[in-house]
Amino acid sequence: MKGKRNIEETELRCMECNNKQKIQRWQGYKKKEGHIKHLYCFKCKDTTAHEEIKEGFSSMGAWG
Ligand SMILES: [Zn+2]
Repeated sequence: MKGKRNIEETELRCMECNNKQKIQRWQGYKKKEGHIKHLYCFKCKDTTAHEEIKEGFSSMGAWG
């Protein structure tokens, strides 16, 4: 059965201010690691480049 919806949570980091935000996307919509995505950053109040943070990457001290 393919009725189950798989939604994956991905974290993106603003390359301007390092603000992290989570987005949800369908599983199977995989992109390359380290992909740069342009999203609206509410901190910068502008559309900035966001770097995709790999899943399983420890947040402990990783970003200071
Ligand atoms: Zn920002």
